[in-house]
Amino acid sequence: MKDGRKSITFNKDILKGKRPFIISGPCSAESPEQVMAVAKELAEIGMVSALRAGIWKPRTRPNSFEGVGEEGLKWLVDAGKETGLPVMTEVAKPKHVEVALKAGVDMLWIGARTTVNPFSVQEIADSLKGVNIPVWVKNPIHLDLQLWIGALERLSNAGIQELGAIHRGFSIGNGTKYRNNPLWEIPIELKRLYPELPIISDPSHIGGKRDLIFSLSQRAIDLNMDGLMIEVHPDPDSALSDSKQQITPAKLKIILSELIYKRDFSSDVDFLHLLTDLRTEIDELDEELIHLLKKRLDIVDKIGVFKQENNVTVFQLDRWIDILNSRGALAKDLGINESFIVEVLKSIHKESIRLQTGIQHKKKTLK
Ligand code: PEP
Ligand code: MN
Repeated sequence: MKDGRKSITFNKDILKGKRPFIISGPCSAESPEQVMAVAKELAEIGMVSALRAGIWKPRTRPNSFEGVGEEGLKWLVDAGKETGLPVMTEVAKPKHVEVALKAGVDMLWIGARTTVNPFSVQEIADSLKGVNIPVWVKNPIHLDLQLWIGALERLSNAGIQELGAIHRGFSIGNGTKYRNNPLWEIPIELKRLYPELPIISDPSHIGGKRDLIFSLSQRAIDLNMDGLMIEVHPDPDSALSDSKQQITPAKLKIILSELIYKRDFSSDVDFLHLLTDLRTEIDELDEELIHLLKKRLDIVDKIGVFKQENNVTVFQLDRWIDILNSRGALAKDLGINESFIVEVLKSIHKESIRLQTGIQHKKKTLK
C-alpha cells in the first residue's frame, strides 16, 4: 500500500466510548495499601477510565527497584474490583502475559523499551493468540514510527482487535526541558495513517517533571488526542520509581478539571463561515507559495548550468551563510520564528543542491 501503510484491523472499543480516555495510577505498584488508596481516590474523581500500575519495571540500571512482581497483580485486580475501574499493567514477555491474564487484568500495555524489539513484541503477540484483551502500545524509545506501527501490526496479526497507541515521547535531542522529546508530528503522522486508531499521550513520561504535566496534557488535547496516561502516587516524593513526575490524586483532580476540552468540529454557522473563508485564503496563499517556489527553482536551474559551464562548485559556503543570516534577520523583524524559517530554507537549499548536482552529473554522463 502507499506510504508503507499496512492494514491493521482494530476497532475503537478500547476507549469504551470515553473521550478523553484517562488512564491513571502509580508508576509502580508498591504495596496493597498504596494501590487500593490510589484506586479509591481516582474512582472518586469520576473522570478516570482505567487504573494503571507497573508490576515489572524496566529500569535503565540494575540494583534499582524492579517492581514487586507477580504478587502485585492481585493488589491491582482487588483494587479494580473494589472501585469498578478496569485495571492494566505493562507486559514485556509471554510469562508476564500468562500471569497477568490468569490474575484477571483487564488491559495490557507494551512499554517503550519493548516496542523497540520486534522479537519481544512477536513473542508477546504469539502469547496473545486467541485471547480477547485490549492492548495499548507505547511508542519505541527512539524515533522510529515504523517500529511503532510494526508492533501494532504484530498484535493485530495475532487477532487483537482492541488496539490503542500511547505517545510517551522520544529519547532524542535532549537539552530540551523534557525527559523525552514529544515530537508531536510523529503521533500526528500515525493518526494520518490510521485515522481510526485511538492515540493517547503520556505527559508523565514525556515531561519527566510534575510541573510539565498540565501544559503537556492541554497540548495533547489541543492536538485531538483521545486521552491521557498520567502517573499518580499518594506520596510522589517517596515513590520507588519516577518520583519526580508523579502527582497526587488530588493534583490530578485539579488538572483534569482545569484542562479545556475541545471538540474537533463545531456546527455553529458563523464559525463554519469564517473557517471556510480563512481556509480559502490559506489555499490561495499555498498556491502562490508553490508558484513562487517553482520560479525560484527555475532560477536555481539556470545558475546550475551557469556554474557548470564555468567549472564552479555547486555549493558555496559564504552564499549559504548569507542566505541564512539575511532571511533569519528578516524573519526576526517580521516576528516569525527564526528557526522555522531556517528549517524551510534548509529544505529549499537541499532541493537546490539536488537539482544543481543533477545538472553537473548529467553533463558528465553526456560527455
Ligand atoms: C511506565 O509507564 O511506567 C513506563 C515504564 O513507561 P515507558 O515504557 O513509556 O518508559
Ligand atoms: Mn513510570
